[in-house]
Amino acid sequence: MTVLPESVTYAIVGAGIHGLSTAWHLAMELEARGKGSGIDIVVLDKTAPGAGASGIACGCVRNFYMTEPLHAILRHSIDVWTYDPVRFGFQQVGYVSCGEANQISDYERMHRSQNNVGYDSDMYEGKDAKKFLKGIWPDFNTDQIDVVLHEKMSGYAGTRQVVAGLAQKCADHGVRVLSGVEVIGYDMAGGRIKKLQTNLGDVACDVAVLCYGAWIGKHWDMLGLPQQLDCSYADGGTTKKDMWTYWRLLEGEVYIDEPYRTADKKDPPVLHVELMNTPVIEDGTGRELDDHLYVYWKNGAERMEKPGVQGGTIPIKIGPQATLDPYGWENDAYQAEPGFADYLTSAMAQLMPRFKGSRKLFKERRNGGIGAFTPDNVPIFDWVLPNAYMIADSNHGFKMTGAGKLVAKQLVGDNRVAELEPFAMDRFAKGRTFGSSNSHCPWV
Ligand SMILES: Cc1cc2nc3c(=O)[nH]c(=O)nc-3n(C[C@H](O)[C@H](O)[C@H](O)COP(=O)(O)OP(=O)(O)OC[C@H]3O[C@@H](n4cnc5c(N)ncnc54)[C@H](O)[C@@H]3O)c2cc1C
Repeated sequence: MTVLPESVTYAIVGAGIHGLSTAWHLAMELEARGKGSGIDIVVLDKTAPGAGASGIACGCVRNFYMTEPLHAILRHSIDVWTYDPVRFGFQQVGYVSCGEANQISDYERMHRSQNNVGYDSDMYEGKDAKKFLKGIWPDFNTDQIDVVLHEKMSGYAGTRQVVAGLAQKCADHGVRVLSGVEVIGYDMAGGRIKKLQTNLGDVACDVAVLCYGAWIGKHWDMLGLPQQLDCSYADGGTTKKDMWTYWRLLEGEVYIDEPYRTADKKDPPVLHVELMNTPVIEDGTGRELDDHLYVYWKNGAERMEKPGVQGGTIPIKIGPQATLDPYGWENDAYQAEPGFADYLTSAMAQLMPRFKGSRKLFKERRNGGIGAFTPDNVPIFDWVLPNAYMIADSNHGFKMTGAGKLVAKQLVGDNRVAELEPFAMDRFAKGRTFGSSNSHCPWV
């Protein structure tokens, strides 16, 4: 039987990547500063750890972001992933991104910025890029590829493994993680959250940490926060935008006859290809499926019972309203349509002949999952009420285990955590709203 405390210093809501990582790191920060321990923290989840996006993510851990301030967050995240890679299921195989000439200057900036924060990556152009790719995947059709970024610290992780691993870290430090406790309202006093009202009773808290994932918009509403925001940009322009916009993801798995390996029989880096000027041609028919190509894939790992790869493409915008429950694979409204399997397998075949004819090998199963994106598609890490901190990762953040590590420092009293500052709410009012990236995808 769940025993709900009457009061607690820190109540963290949501047992996904961010709630669990924050709780674990907060316990360690409190212990290190002699200010308390995990006993002062409770994590509440309406279902159970990993019931949201963290339990169904593809698992890619990368730093391929044109939003440069994210690079430092990801550097911290690698420290977390490699703290206990076995328990977190982290495979540090690297991440290889490929583009056409129109992205070379973006790649140069990312490469410079990544290395400036100690996130090792190499960049290749022209013939060197093609040679590098062929060295890993000899059948790679590199005709349209002009630039490559190789992030050596990146990789992928098993979603169930990391959720279980983080929950174990919490338990090791005395943090209580309570399942089946749903926050259904807020008892407010003087603009602060006095008590969280739950299906099992009230919990008084000094500080609430809101790690709701896709459900954040619902609680934003309940807290009376504005549904639209004026977003100011560096050029002086201002645009009114919806606070939350939902997108649904397109991901799936493809079986292969042979294990997916590099030329020297290793687990290949996660591969990401965006060719903004190259159409996707359907394997077998020659029909054009789209006028640009965007695809990523990696070994299928925990999702496959025999050799296969798991990948996806650009998500689809739903809009400012979405049906949140049931979530993920259980929601009929947000399943990937058959055209996605045609696209994925054709794009893969176009890039590597080993995947020709693989449409029939697509793993037919329920897929999908939605995310709540912020007005500029970049995470928000900040206090949203005097005693309520929000981690809203704009659906980028399975990889961002380091966010909780940094947020923990702020929760115990550090006024300034430099890495988090660009992601504060005041960016929208102060002309620091992030602009759009040179990509067809909202999370590059
Ligand atoms: C299909 C898919 C694939 C993805 N692939 C990747 C990837 O490869 N790499 C990557 O970096 N990111 C990926 N993402 C994004 C990433 O998974 C999310 O950004 C991240 O997991 C969000 O973590 P979270 O802790 O914020 O939220 P969640 O994991 O969604 O956790 C929120 C939790 O809050 C709980 N909750 C909700 N309402 C309440 C309430 N009222 N009371 C109590 N608890 C509540 C839920 O049960 C849930 O467990 C993917 C997302 C999806 C959907």
